[in-house]
Amino acid sequence: MITVQNLTYTYPGANEETLHGLNFDIAEGEIFGFLGPSGAGKSTTQNILIGLLKHFSGRVQLMGRSVADWGHDLYEQIGVSFELPNHYLKLTALENLNHFGSLYSGQTHDPLELLSWVDLQDDAGKKVAEFSKGMKVRLNVARSLIHQPKMLFLDEPTSGLDPVNARKIKDLILRLRQQGTTVFVTTHNMSVADELCDRVAFITGGNLSVIDAPAALKQQYGKREVLVAYRNGAEAIEEQTFALDGLGHDQAFIQLLQTAVRLETIHTQETTLENIFIQVTGQELSA
Ligand code: ADP
Ligand code: MG
Repeated sequence: MITVQNLTYTYPGANEETLHGLNFDIAEGEIFGFLGPSGAGKSTTQNILIGLLKHFSGRVQLMGRSVADWGHDLYEQIGVSFELPNHYLKLTALENLNHFGSLYSGQTHDPLELLSWVDLQDDAGKKVAEFSKGMKVRLNVARSLIHQPKMLFLDEPTSGLDPVNARKIKDLILRLRQQGTTVFVTTHNMSVADELCDRVAFITGGNLSVIDAPAALKQQYGKREVLVAYRNGAEAIEEQTFALDGLGHDQAFIQLLQTAVRLETIHTQETTLENIFIQVTGQELSA
């Protein structure tokens, strides 16, 4: 659905390049994530993909056609949720959705149904000016779906949301993928990348470092070990690690299980996406 080759971008008037030659492809029906700290170039990339920022160098194709060759008809095909919600503040949530729905020529979703998907059905008649930041973000996601787009671009779709609402948005995105929607999502939130993305790209300072499935990354970077914490009497907790492979025949492990006075915990040493991010890029996600 999306092909990006050697994408380089410098903001007009800036003396430094923001994106330094990105390469990635996104398949139909895939959730593809850009994970990286603030300032990495995530929003810049999204804005190029959706045709908002021009004068980049490299190749950017959407559905087999160069982004520069798409006219306004591109916006009938794609749904976009910007990082900073841009609603009509004096209109209600419902009026906002009705207005944006009227701009499209194809079939649109029922605005009230859309509001229920993001748990705003009880706020349909409220002016957006009275909405909290999280409510605006949720309305933003709902609005991006109104024309039933085949492809979605979501810039930080859970930013400012409490865990319950973040869960709702994540479940909604997973449901859309099940219906065949292709999703490009940017985030600085490890759990969004981990729970949603079929593949994730790490971005720092305008460069991509790895692109892979979160589970594959964890397998590659995690230690296949088991850590056993135990006590032999009243003294301090002791720890021993054992290789996961061949564990059933590991005599030292079996003996420890049989002889430890008290077992405290037994854990496999899986790593988190955040640890891998730090290991690969040398940067913290929250930086
Ligand atoms: P992210 O979305 O990953 O937080 P951005 O794509 O917004 O990062 O920004 C990447 C870099 O480009 C940052 O250094 C930022 O300061 C710079 N930048 C963003 N927008 C502009 C702009 N309109 N003009 C000049 N520089 C910009
Ligand atoms: Mg951003």
